[in-house]
Amino acid sequence: MNPFAYSQAKSVDAALPLIAAEGARPVAGGTNLIDLIKEGVMQPSALVDINPLAHAGLDVIEDFEGGLRLGALARNAATAYHDTVRKRYPLLSAAILAGASPQLRNMASNGGNLLQRTRCVYFYDVGTPCNKREPGTGCPAKNGLNRQLAILGTSEQCIATHPSDMCVALRALDATVHVKSAGGARAIPIADFHRLPGDTPQIDSNLQPGELITHITLPDAARFIEHSAYIKVRDRLSYAFALVSVAAALDLDGGTIRAARIALGGVAHKPWRIEDAEAALAGKPATEASFAAAADRILEGARGYGQNDFKLTLAKNAIVQALTTATRGTAFAKGEQA
Ligand SMILES: Cc1cc2nc3c(=O)[nH]c(=O)nc-3n(C[C@H](O)[C@H](O)[C@H](O)COP(=O)(O)OP(=O)(O)OC[C@H]3O[C@@H](n4cnc5c(N)ncnc54)[C@H](O)[C@@H]3O)c2cc1C
Ligand code: SF4
Repeated sequence: MNPFAYSQAKSVDAALPLIAAEGARPVAGGTNLIDLIKEGVMQPSALVDINPLAHAGLDVIEDFEGGLRLGALARNAATAYHDTVRKRYPLLSAAILAGASPQLRNMASNGGNLLQRTRCVYFYDVGTPCNKREPGTGCPAKNGLNRQLAILGTSEQCIATHPSDMCVALRALDATVHVKSAGGARAIPIADFHRLPGDTPQIDSNLQPGELITHITLPDAARFIEHSAYIKVRDRLSYAFALVSVAAALDLDGGTIRAARIALGGVAHKPWRIEDAEAALAGKPATEASFAAAADRILEGARGYGQNDFKLTLAKNAIVQALTTATRGTAFAKGEQA
């Protein structure tokens, strides 16, 4: 066991210098960080328990400028079952409920979900090399156990995926992540929050050291309420990470597409979205042929690494299925996923 200091944050301003200290990490639900500490993958010298900040409003979910504001400490379950989320952002609710288990969702916070780390088996096994855990040691996954891993946006150094379901819907819905540090507050569009691995796979996100996520905002998404679907393909029906997931939303005028949103999980180091492919769907009929053409555009440049080659076909089929299901209606999608 690696010794570490433990403190509780009394207020946001009091928490900021604590989490900015060398080697310190905030802990929220602890469902990922504590596992990583127990496995020896992460060894923070200090844990700053930010759960008391719920009393400072960090767990609040409320209307915000025509959209919604989700506190970083609101639990995944509370978010998914919140009346406004269910009615106005059914895609987000469905994505969260496709993740983990009820027990985990009761503990997991929205801020922690954004920062959960990859599930690549080598990353968790400190007896193996891994560029993400120990830069410069190599990536055994490229020629090894890569069934779960990425087909898009990979690098020589790392082919890991981001495992979140919630983040896939946040990407489709154009969320913004709000953070605070001793230097002030800033807002990061979700598209720029997670990173591709490139030459620095050890860095998962563009959050800077010492920054605390305070909340997430969502713009109005009324036009996508009636036609959305979250499809998650996985090895077990529950308690399993996505092989491929798709968050799809359509704004339809009869059988014609006015606007589309499509984001993928389980295929890259960040939620994957190609806005050009969505724009090309505008004015097209909501048919399998249109959806297949969009899928081809979204998956341009995809490649497998052996065990995950099947994802190339699976991802295309999942995109078409998600858009077809969304066309039938959000209510239909819910029934199909129940
Ligand atoms: C068995 C199992 C199955 C799972 N299955 C799924 C799944 O299918 N889909 C899915 O999406 N997820 C799944 N998860 C992951 C789960 O959703 C995450 O572990 C959870 O969302 C993390 O939230 P947390 O509050 O517990 O984070 P913590 O473990 O407390 O923290 C995670 C990271 O976030 C940082 N952090 C937390 N809050 C903040 C903040 N406000 N500001 C700055 N940094 C912060 C911490 O320092 C840490 O680095 C699974 C987890 C387990 C254990
Ligand atoms: S894919 Fe990334 S996380 Fe997995 S072994 Fe390679 S470097 Fe490590």
